[in-house]
Amino acid sequence: MNCRFCDAELKHILVDLGMSPLANSYLDVESLYKAESFYPLRVFVCHECLLVQLSENVEDPDKIFSDYLYFSSYSQTWLKHAEEFVDNVMKKFSFSKNSQIIEIASNDGYLLQYFKNKEIPILGIEPATNIAKIAEEKGINTINKFFGIDTADELIKKGYQADLLIAINVLPHVPNIQDFVEGIKRILKSRGVCMIQFSTYMLPFLQDTEFDSIYHEHFSYFSLLSIQNILNAFELVVFDVEELPIHGGSLRIYVKHKENQIIEVKQKVNELIDKENKAGLSLVENYESFSKQVNKSKLEILKFFISAKENGKKIIGYGAPAKGNTLLNFCGIGKDMLEYTVDISPHKQGLFLPGTHIPIKKPETIRETKPDYLVILSWNFKDEIMQQMDFIREWGGKFVVFHPKIEVL
Ligand SMILES: [Zn+2]
Repeated sequence: MNCRFCDAELKHILVDLGMSPLANSYLDVESLYKAESFYPLRVFVCHECLLVQLSENVEDPDKIFSDYLYFSSYSQTWLKHAEEFVDNVMKKFSFSKNSQIIEIASNDGYLLQYFKNKEIPILGIEPATNIAKIAEEKGINTINKFFGIDTADELIKKGYQADLLIAINVLPHVPNIQDFVEGIKRILKSRGVCMIQFSTYMLPFLQDTEFDSIYHEHFSYFSLLSIQNILNAFELVVFDVEELPIHGGSLRIYVKHKENQIIEVKQKVNELIDKENKAGLSLVENYESFSKQVNKSKLEILKFFISAKENGKKIIGYGAPAKGNTLLNFCGIGKDMLEYTVDISPHKQGLFLPGTHIPIKKPETIRETKPDYLVILSWNFKDEIMQQMDFIREWGGKFVVFHPKIEVL
């Protein structure tokens, strides 16, 4: 097995989460009693380029991104985050009616709408056909494509090149990194700026043992060190960085062409590289303790469930995210421990979690069954969920989160 970026042989395993079903393959009633496919879920770190990555591709890229509706349309936290980004970037760089904003994996236009409100020309590139259609219906100029060299060339022919190119939570899901980054290089104007954001960032991922961010559709896990190695190979340069609290700690980077001398590289970039070096991220040997931390975390999670069940408590989940499926499958938690979970997305209600077969219900069901504990599987939206579900306090219900540490709130 070789690195998906630099082709070096992968020798260092970060963690082996055993066999797991595809995290987004929710089941309907008919599928419950049929055979289910499980695949190895192993993560390696490359000793050459430091890219943390899954060992094999098991998912057909056409199916990826099918699960992104929740993030864009239904989360107020995420919409607010998008609006703040647009306001900030407009202050930082002077985009105008003559600028072109392009977003890769633009979803239903939840972010581009804020540029559109400011009358700046936008273009979304969205691979999911149903979601691209929703965006078009909302008046967001969108093409229904995967991004890479071919799409970049096609758009350039049509006269599109980006003053601002945006790629949020997409690069980790891209099987062919070379093709994607070359596409970025081509479509970005010589003085253009590219913003790339990762909701799973290696520093908090390792420090807080965020093993549930690992699932089959999530191919790569980035540090600033590894993404810089990749971009530099294409003569692209990181000139600014922001560490964001959202999703348990995200990384946002700003990228320019190497030959663009007008934009200076900020001191913050070197400071974050120093921080990663100090945390040991530049040496693969330092990644070895993660696996032990993951096993420790599993024992603590199981301890919570066993002790609560022994005391006759009723435990329900909140959210049916990919991360929840990794956690439940790895820890071996089924319906006997977690009776059901709820999700705000109507697309998931009535279905069952892969592997564990835990039913997904409407959030209102919680009022009827009055659980003692509500385990927030979508812990990245903890604050928003706790606000919405505050009524569980009426019968003495408590919230539980497992990351960054087990907390009963
Ligand atoms: Zn590599």
